[in-house]
Amino acid sequence: MLTLMKQILENTLWDIVIIGGGATGMGSAIDAASRGYKTLLIEKDDYGKGTSSKSTKLIHGGVRYLQQGNFSLVLEALKERAILKRNAPHIVHDLKFVVPTYDWWESPFYGIGLKLYDWLAGKEGFGDSEFLSKEETIAYIPTVSQEGLRGGVIYHDGQFDDTRLLVNMMQTAKEQGATVLNYTQFLEFSKNDQSLIDGATIQNVFTKEKYQIKAKSIINATGVFSDSIRQKDNPSIPKIMTSSQGVHIVLDKSFLPSDTAIMIPETEDGRVLFAVPWHDKIIIGTTDTPVSKYDSEPLPKEKEIDFLLTHTGKYLTKNPTKKDIKSVFVGLRPLVKNGNAENTAEISREHVIEVSKSGLISIAGGKWTTYRKMAEDTVDKATMVAVVPFVKSETEFLNIHGHQKQKSEQNPLSIYGTDSKHIKKLGDINPKLKEKIHPNYPFIKAQVVWAIQKEDAKTIEDILARRIRLLFLDAQACIDVAESVADLLQEHLAMSNEWKEKQIVDLKKLAQQYLLT
Ligand SMILES: Cc1cc2nc3c(=O)[nH]c(=O)nc-3n(C[C@H](O)[C@H](O)[C@H](O)COP(=O)(O)OP(=O)(O)OC[C@H]3O[C@@H](n4cnc5c(N)ncnc54)[C@H](O)[C@@H]3O)c2cc1C
Repeated sequence: MLTLMKQILENTLWDIVIIGGGATGMGSAIDAASRGYKTLLIEKDDYGKGTSSKSTKLIHGGVRYLQQGNFSLVLEALKERAILKRNAPHIVHDLKFVVPTYDWWESPFYGIGLKLYDWLAGKEGFGDSEFLSKEETIAYIPTVSQEGLRGGVIYHDGQFDDTRLLVNMMQTAKEQGATVLNYTQFLEFSKNDQSLIDGATIQNVFTKEKYQIKAKSIINATGVFSDSIRQKDNPSIPKIMTSSQGVHIVLDKSFLPSDTAIMIPETEDGRVLFAVPWHDKIIIGTTDTPVSKYDSEPLPKEKEIDFLLTHTGKYLTKNPTKKDIKSVFVGLRPLVKNGNAENTAEISREHVIEVSKSGLISIAGGKWTTYRKMAEDTVDKATMVAVVPFVKSETEFLNIHGHQKQKSEQNPLSIYGTDSKHIKKLGDINPKLKEKIHPNYPFIKAQVVWAIQKEDAKTIEDILARRIRLLFLDAQACIDVAESVADLLQEHLAMSNEWKEKQIVDLKKLAQQYLLT
């Protein structure tokens, strides 16, 4: 007997199929569906399981790219920053950054650079950069290391919650008419007698049911996994991807009791270091270590943790140690190889779109901030491969699901935008759902139920890692709540006890990795 899903997937001739449910793939699904194309997105794990959940959480032009002289990338990213703040104001907000200065030349040097940054942003800027005296720097960053401190420069950029945005993007794509499936993996392409791609075999990861889908065009948006999909199309094609891993550590707010972030433009080994307040914790990152093996949950290296701890200690009065770390997360940068670059930090973050002889469209590189423009460029290409009537992208003016101007009061549900009232209502109907899942954090049970009902969450990890961010904020707290969240999940998904027990074991194992134990 054919399942309903099989009928829907196999009886449709899809205009555009997208493989990969990170920022790039989801952006492409919104773009394609909003132009009216029949769109399917498949993600083998949960949305954002790859790099898109492990960013520094900045929507930024990239001061570092300015230092490298890459003005076109900065200009494009600054434009996208402004668009994203307009289209998702409930998630993207302005953040102040202070560059503390210890050498006589630093304030004028960084100050002029940041004025250029303001100028490139033009009227879309988030606020003007300013020189700070030593006293003003300390007022913004009370725990900044004061030995030899001369002053600082303050500038503005954007901050967001990466997977909250991604989940809202998934809802936007569906509202525009796309079919979006997590836990569905791409297996292989089918080709017509002219050797052009005309479909694919895909599989539900849980039920193992396979589907033969028909597609006019297929986009490969699988980040660091792009080469594996390209080689399924053409086994002899040379690889174009390379990667470096970026580690972040999460510390208690007491290390930086401020709403202002710190940016160190150049550590002694030439890296950029951020200390960013996020959900009442501090994220410190990142590293740039070349890697050749790609995993969804890469492991941090001892020396990367040491690097982050030592350098945080240099710029803050309180020296963090390993046992202060609440969580560690590691992401892989999807970088497109560049013959001249000597190390991965020098490889351009610009995106590259490749169309293979058989019509596979691969999009790789770029940044979270520029996902919308990347998606627009990719879907433009897909319309040519699919030979469908060209419709212009309007995503520049398309609100993301939940769109709501931020109110000033601190409501923990405000990040849900217009959905916050629905989550509150769940608690009004069933007061048990107003209970917190952990006494130290504002997350309530209604958010778990909402994630299951409306946000495609299917495992405890989906909830604790990417719908609410407890795994990233405090891995031990995540272990502590595993049982109670699993109970809710079992009840709402009607699953067996064995299923629940396995969920708990898997989640605890992952959380131990985030705890460095
Ligand atoms: C440490 C770090 C910090 C960063 N910080 C920032 C920042 O602050 N701001 C910013 O703008 N950018 C930042 N970036 C860059 C940004 O995070 C990435 O450019 C972006 O997330 C890449 O998204 P993606 O969709 O291309 O890849 P991914 O998010 O990796 O998505 C690819 C998806 O494809 C899926 N997939 C793979 N194979 C298959 C298959 N066979 N079938 C189905 N699905 C499949 C994977 O499971 C994965 O979910 C950072 C990157 C790193 C590494």
